[in-house]
This record gives sequence, structure tokens and C-alpha cells, in this order.
Amino acid sequence: MTKTLRGVGVSHGVAIGQVRHMGTAVLEPPATQIPTADAPREQARAQAAVEAVAADLTARGNLAGGEAQAVLEAQALMAQDPELMADVSRRIAVGSSAERGVYDAFAAYRALLASAGEYLAGRVADLDDVRNRIVARLMGVPMPGVPDSDEPYVLFARDLAPADTALLDPTLVLGFVTEEGGPTSHSAILARAMGVPAVVALPGATEVAEGTVVAVDGSSGDVLLEPSQEKQDELRAAAAERKAALAASSGPGRTSDGHRVPLLANVGGPADVPAALENGAEGVGLFRTEFLFLDDSAKAPSEEKQVEAYRKVLEAFPEGRVVVRALDAGADKPLDFLTPADEPNPALGVRGLRTLLENPEVMQTQLRALARAAEGLPVHLEVMAPMVADRKDAKDFAEACRRAGLDAKFGAMVEIPSAALRARAILQEVEFLSLGTNDLAQYTFAADRQVGALARLQDPWQPALLDLIASAADAAQAEGKSCGVCGEAASDPLLAVVLTGLGVTSLSMGAASIPYVRSTLAKYTLAQCRRAAEAARATDSAEEARAAAQQVLSGFYVQRC
Ligand code: PEP
Ligand code: MG
Repeated sequence: MTKTLRGVGVSHGVAIGQVRHMGTAVLEPPATQIPTADAPREQARAQAAVEAVAADLTARGNLAGGEAQAVLEAQALMAQDPELMADVSRRIAVGSSAERGVYDAFAAYRALLASAGEYLAGRVADLDDVRNRIVARLMGVPMPGVPDSDEPYVLFARDLAPADTALLDPTLVLGFVTEEGGPTSHSAILARAMGVPAVVALPGATEVAEGTVVAVDGSSGDVLLEPSQEKQDELRAAAAERKAALAASSGPGRTSDGHRVPLLANVGGPADVPAALENGAEGVGLFRTEFLFLDDSAKAPSEEKQVEAYRKVLEAFPEGRVVVRALDAGADKPLDFLTPADEPNPALGVRGLRTLLENPEVMQTQLRALARAAEGLPVHLEVMAPMVADRKDAKDFAEACRRAGLDAKFGAMVEIPSAALRARAILQEVEFLSLGTNDLAQYTFAADRQVGALARLQDPWQPALLDLIASAADAAQAEGKSCGVCGEAASDPLLAVVLTGLGVTSLSMGAASIPYVRSTLAKYTLAQCRRAAEAARATDSAEEARAAAQQVLSGFYVQRC
């Protein structure tokens, strides 16, 4: 019989396919002693695993060609290093299991490499990868990192970090399911950017067997294990019908009485532009520039490389609005060369604008690159700072933008409650606000956005979060400036109606959500949006707020039909 697991649906649509797990990064085999009589068998197991991993690396090198081939072949040689293998055998002979022998021998070799000068120390990551592959094979668990698969699959993981996801092949990932992560986690954000269905905070996700056929419903949060063919056909037909209905909605974002709410896309770089255009984005409301910095977390990309990437995005929206966020490093988006390794609490540490102010050369290079990228283009460039806490932060950022010669509007993200409460002061320094509701929820409820068990507190329908949004939107209106939402709250069609009612002036989201938000917003007048917002704010929980808005709006919609 089909079993159904339930998590939090964060990206619409249905994905049906086989489960592939994201392998864990570090596998430490137990250090149990084995009887001496078992040593020859363990030595043979270790030898066979080493040979299989080396052969696999060589085969993948042949497929990849070019520079990647050289790296993979070097890794294959590492795996078969005779001295390393001799050390593995010695360790097994005195009581280690095959996996523990490999683990310890590689650890000793790693320490040698790490202390042998810059070039060899740089090979440590390659060595760790080889070790993880051999140990994973011996323990019969998935290979670490992104699954090796030529067939499309549904990716299951504990959680996904931006660095993991940068390696995913978007043509192979049908959908995501994670055990951790709330509605604002990077897994959720990435799934929306890729336009694939996703469910997060699913208890037991990491225990679902590799290869199980699953149907993932990214709206309800249901994950069906081994659904019947009939059920699969039914789900596919319903999803196709819904997609076709949505494709029929087009044009700029507006309420039924014509109040304009521009619908913008959240992008991570040029690769996300086609989906933004396909879904009718009116511009970009959040360009997360940190994805550009993930290629090499040891140093910043050169100014030239940045100019090239920024220009590709800016060119895609002639006459449109593109809001670029200055680098937001730290906490859930760490960068080796910028993020302190020893912070007791990274989410409350040096991150976002704080990192930029401590590293002015990184900020100036980025701002200069943006100024150069926009030269001669008709685009309306806007640049905003992440994690602005107060008026001084806003002032420092605006001054840095002016110093870099940027001809753009400067803005502040509202992600910290202090910024929402004192938005009017911040607006004395900058020209617009953009609400990052993901971090704003995290800091309002003291609930880490990466912890699935806290998904209830990360729910953007929480009335306290709605109050803070209203406070920022009111301040912007009083100052005659704009206040958009670029956090994941904007991608929930019903909540988008409420946000409009709260006075938010634009909504930015993963491109695939735009048609859903556009068609829902078009059903209601601005006055009705306001009524829904009032009803939601008058409640005491996220569930009640959602239900209250739904009730108010269903009344209107039924009456008009
Ligand atoms: C946010 O915090 O809502 C936001 C848009 O930024 P990020 O999700 O990249 O932290
Ligand atoms: Mg944020």
C-alpha cells in the first residue's frame, strides 16, 4: 500500500521519480576491533573498493574531458598510492576494519599533505573526496555530495547548502525533499529558482530507501512512497491541467481594480534569467550575488568576472528594474575568505553588510563592477545592502555606493526587526526598502531558518511578522518611497494578496511562482486585499491568520462569481 509522509510544501508542482540521496560529507566508521583471522578478508575488501573508486574516477574523467579529466585522473592515482595502500593493510592487520583502516590511513596522509607547502595543502580537499568515496563504498552508503546519476531523480537530503546545490545538474533534478530546512531555507529557495517541486521539514526523509519511487506534491507537502501507476497518472494529469491554466495568465502584476504591484524575479545569476523572462517577470527584485562568489570560496571573483555576470543580467531587462543585493556572506552563506571560522553564533555575528564594512575592498570592487556593468544600458539599476540594522548602517552603505560612482538607487533590506521598527530613520539615508522576510522571521522568532523542527516559527503568516512588514510599509509610504518584499513570503499567492493589503509596493520571488501570484492577485481589489490583511493581523497564530485571510477572500470571490 502507498505510504504518505507529510512535510512542508515550498515549491508548487508534482515530481515523480526515484529517490537519490545527497551523500553525507564526512563518514566516520566505528573504531571496533576485528579478529585477526578476518584481516585478509578486510584487506581484500579495501583493495577492491580502492580499485572500484579509481576506475570510477577514471571513467568520469574520460567522460568529462579537459581540465576536469586531469583532476579526476590525479584523484584516481591518489586512491591507488602504494604507500597509502600499504598503510591501510598494516592498520587492518592490527585490528581495524577495512573502512576504519582506510579512514585512518588517509587521515595520516592528509596531515602530511596539509603541512607540505601551499600547493600540496591545496590537494587536501581532493584527498578527502577520494577517502569519502572509498569509505562510502565500503559502508554501502550513498557517495558523498551530489548523486552520480545519468537518469533524472528526486533529490533527498538532510538539508542543502548553497555550495552543494551549485554542483547540481538542473536537467536531472525533478524535485527536492529535505528533512531539515524551513520554508525559507536554501533548499526551498533553490527549488523555486529551478522551478521544481519541493517539500522541506519532512521527518524521516533521510531514511527513505535509495531508488524508491516517490511522488512529491510541492503544494500540499505530501510525499507518496511507491504510488500506484494509476495514482501517478492522476497526479500528472492534475499538475498539467493546473500548469496550463496558469500559463494563460499574463501581463504585469495588478489587483482586479488595476492597482499595480510589479512582480519581479529572484535570481542568483545569468542562468536564472531565461526562467524569469519565460514567467513574465517585470524585472529582478533580488539578485543574490553570493552565488558568483561560491565558485572559489578562497577569494573574491575578479572585477572583470563580476562585470561580465552583472551585465548579462542587466541586459536581459532593458528599461526594467534590476535590484542587486551587495554580497551577503556569513551565517547560512559562509565564504572561507570572509567569514570568521570561530564565531559562537554566526547568525548573530559578522555577516551581510557587517562583513562588507569590515572588508571595504571587497565591497568597493563589487560596487565598481556594478557601475561598470550598467554603463550605457537603459536599465534601472538599484543596489541594496543585506542585513541593515540601523540608520548608521544605511548611511555607510549609501556613502560606499557614492564613492564607487554608482548611478543607481540605493536601498536597504529589512531583515532585522530593528530596521522594520525604525524604517523611517533608515529612509533618510536610502531610497527604498526591501523586506527579506526569511531573515526577518528568523530574527523575530529567534528561530534558525535551517532547522526544520522550527518551521512553525518560520511561517511568514505569523502575525508578529505581518506587524513588522506593516510598520516598514507604512514608513515607506509616509516618506513617499517604495517598499517591496523579496523574501519567500512573496511567493505564496494568498500571502501576496495580504502583503499588497499591508502596503507593500512590489513582490519578488522565484520565477516559477510568478504565474501563481499574478493570477491570484488579479482576483481581488485593493480594498479587499486590505480587508484580508486586517483580518490576518487580528489573529494570534500563522494558521489563524491564513484561515482568516482565506475566509475573507473566499467571501469576496464567491460574491463576484
Ligand atoms: C531574506 O532573508 O528574506 C532574503 C531575501 O535573503 P536570503 O534569503 O538570501 O537571506
Ligand atoms: Mg536574508
